[in-house]
Amino acid sequence: MRSAARTHSRPVACLLLVLGLIVALPGRPFGIDPKTAQRIEDEIEKFRTEVVKIRRFIHMNPELGNREFETSRLVAAKLETLGLEVRTGVARTGVVALLRGTRPGTTVAVRADMDALPIQEATGLPFKSLNPGVMHACGHDVHTSVVLGTAMVLSALKDKLRGSVSFIFQPAEEGAPEGEEGGAELMVREGALDNPPASAIFGFHVWPEDLGQVFAAPGFVTAGSEGFGITINGKSAHGARPHEGVDAIVIAAEIVQALQTVVSRAVDPTDPAVVTVGTIQGGSRRNIIADKVTLQGTVRTLSEANRKKIPPLMEAIVKGICEIYGATYDFEYKPLLPSVYNNPELAATMTPALAKLLGKDKVLEWKPQLIAEDFSFFAQKIPGFYFFLGVKGPNQAAATPLHSPGFNPDERAIPLGIKVLCHLVLDALEAQGTTPAGATRL
Ligand SMILES: [Zn+2]
Ligand SMILES: [Zn+2]
Repeated sequence: MRSAARTHSRPVACLLLVLGLIVALPGRPFGIDPKTAQRIEDEIEKFRTEVVKIRRFIHMNPELGNREFETSRLVAAKLETLGLEVRTGVARTGVVALLRGTRPGTTVAVRADMDALPIQEATGLPFKSLNPGVMHACGHDVHTSVVLGTAMVLSALKDKLRGSVSFIFQPAEEGAPEGEEGGAELMVREGALDNPPASAIFGFHVWPEDLGQVFAAPGFVTAGSEGFGITINGKSAHGARPHEGVDAIVIAAEIVQALQTVVSRAVDPTDPAVVTVGTIQGGSRRNIIADKVTLQGTVRTLSEANRKKIPPLMEAIVKGICEIYGATYDFEYKPLLPSVYNNPELAATMTPALAKLLGKDKVLEWKPQLIAEDFSFFAQKIPGFYFFLGVKGPNQAAATPLHSPGFNPDERAIPLGIKVLCHLVLDALEAQGTTPAGATRL
């Protein structure tokens, strides 16, 4: 799936762009002029009902990763009616559409994911999923409609665009089906950030916190996710004659315990990491010493330091324990997803702009989470800014979590998401427009 070896280099920050933002923004007030801000409000109002309708249609017709055929068709058709330059079939079902502003400038990208999850919906909503066992339980229906809505609003504000906007609709964020490639990594490889080259990218995720709140922070946003597999090869014997065998189950038990000391004893406690053994399989009968046990699990890290440090420590534990008992082992370690990393300079300029737009008390600091999100592949290539949008309505006593059958985001977050993205895009283009010609990319 996402197991190909890859480098773990931090995104190479587009230094000149970032310098441009730093130089350009503090010199002028954050945010766009009041007249344009009002036009955004008016356009959102005009499109609000249609965008909510689109969201409900997508919610009723959820499609799994790499199978987003109808969603993709709907998105492409809408973007074509807006007059955008639309590329379809990027990374299978992905769509990339370019909106050219009337003023010259660079290009920034906005990304939405489109896939649903294999979950049976239990919301009881009148627009609940019509596809049994499949549900938009991660809110990607909201992401798709918010970014589509942003394309609708910005299409009406072409005269205000200093450059172009590339709208990226991505398949398979939750992972491609076994044996297939997909998602952000494939989109990057198939040129989603090229032609014209984007110099910054924005993305967001709905989050089960209060409606009206936005969460953002510079640096690490989500964890890097890696997978491991350990096979312990012992020697079979009669269960009553253990001295004639090498018991892979006893060895596995020790390894499972000892692996936990990697995080608790060897890793900086202020730099979060998780080692989880998720499966353990071995043995064939209660009175036979097992000759083979396999363990599978995941490692989550934020920092590059931990990403490098943890695998050899794990292997040393496996090797040491197997040697003590005379077993052999196989150790496999696969990088799956890098961390989402918010370009610090981009975040430093965009976060105050958000605070000005929404009010300081509505823009809260994001605490890095050990969840994974493949937006990281975009943010590895160009400076990225990823934020979280509160979707817990005032009537919801407790928020239903993402990936649960009752997940029901408050749709009033949709116009707010559109507003935030419109402002971020216009601001970023405006700031980049003030950098010297040709200085927007390395
Ligand atoms: Zn998800
Ligand atoms: Zn998601």
